Amino acid sequence: HLNRISEVDGAVHAFLHVDTEGALDAARAVDAELAAGKQPRSALAGVPLALKDVFTTNGVPTTCGSRILDGWIPPYDATVTRKLREAGVVILGKANMDEFAMGSSTENSAFGPTRNPWDHDRIPGGSGGGSAASLAAFEAPLAVGTDTGGSIRQPAAVTGTVGVKPTYGGVSRYGLVAFSSSLDQGGPCARTVLDAALLHEVIGGHDPLDSTSIDAAVPPVVAAARQGADGDLRGVRVGVVTEFAGEGYQPGVLSSFHAAVETLRGLGAEVVEVSCPNFEHALPAYYLINPSEASSNLARFDAMRYGLRVGENGASAEEVMSATREAGFGAEVKRRIMLGTFALSSGYYDAYYGQAQKVRTLVSRDFAAAFERVDVLVSPTTPTTAFPIGERVDDPMAMYRADLCTVPVNLAGNAAISVPSGLSDEDGLPVGLQVMAPAMADERMYRVGAAFE
Ligand code: GLN
Repeated sequence: HLNRISEVDGAVHAFLHVDTEGALDAARAVDAELAAGKQPRSALAGVPLALKDVFTTNGVPTTCGSRILDGWIPPYDATVTRKLREAGVVILGKANMDEFAMGSSTENSAFGPTRNPWDHDRIPGGSGGGSAASLAAFEAPLAVGTDTGGSIRQPAAVTGTVGVKPTYGGVSRYGLVAFSSSLDQGGPCARTVLDAALLHEVIGGHDPLDSTSIDAAVPPVVAAARQGADGDLRGVRVGVVTEFAGEGYQPGVLSSFHAAVETLRGLGAEVVEVSCPNFEHALPAYYLINPSEASSNLARFDAMRYGLRVGENGASAEEVMSATREAGFGAEVKRRIMLGTFALSSGYYDAYYGQAQKVRTLVSRDFAAAFERVDVLVSPTTPTTAFPIGERVDDPMAMYRADLCTVPVNLAGNAAISVPSGLSDEDGLPVGLQVMAPAMADERMYRVGAAFE
């Protein structure tokens, strides 16, 4: 895999940092244990992985795709990082991402975009484009991403890979640089549903260091993926979300989605239409709640604690802070800080942030009502296939629309997977099928995803 990275990553740019020595040491340690006759540490011992550069790695640079963290070397491992190491997973390096995970195309990385391995002139999705591209380019068989509004599922869809947003609280956020804390969720990326499930069981589980971590066992996702592989979905009720179609959806995405629904029916699933009327308000609500939380979380980058520091000798602390944030943050980060600060300001709080929180409750109620009738919900993962690099950089609203189908799950805190649904008959690019499950019932979507794949 290191050789493959040297061959193709100049063109793909999935990695911000390749940790050749660390990876070889970890692989040799696993080899030595096996040679000594020890039991493998886990099913994934010795398997290489690309880690999104939003997780801290002790002694290895962590930038979050931002200049403001350039040169920062964390003194500790995120819980996800620690669990990977303990399982003997070989961390190849840190995967490229939109700055602080803000974006849908990986064009907001301060270190240059990642390219879609299917077509180097197109985006690999975002914000975890590096993680997904590393899989599609066969640089790594596994990756870990984070999904605040779709950043695992959307890149999976447009690169023809598998991406999972676990139930909120299912994977620890300790050592995950905070973007929007009530939405952020780490999760597995892989080329098959079973691989994703194996990784999910390695990184998931309760963590006393994360106050929102769920104190319960990881749902039995590996067993569910194995069960699904028999291709029998008799007795499973699948709801098709009626709101996720129509204007803004490419015909090639919709025809792939309709074919996917017929496949599920052919595997024995009972398919019904389900209306979730508040989902159409999820995107505007998300783009108020997310910047509000981000503006607060990013206050810690004050030029004193981490990385970059810009300022003349003799400048005041405030001048240094201001000059550092001006130089260190990109345009999208500044946009979110301004939007969030505005939405939270006195006089506007009720009209924007408060209103968005009410919509969030309504979205959760739509899910609750739907899951009384069906076991899982399905939709396209994204309204379009991978768009050309540059097409939406000057149009934030168009960029935000890439998250249309993914944000309701983050607002409600339940789980979803994106699985490859073949190629669009319009442009020959990958399309993703999204399968959504209730909170703490992640195994359902693994079963359906594995049966479908
Ligand atoms: N595209 C969304 C955003 O920019 C989602 C990001 C994410 O999931 N990290 O907020």
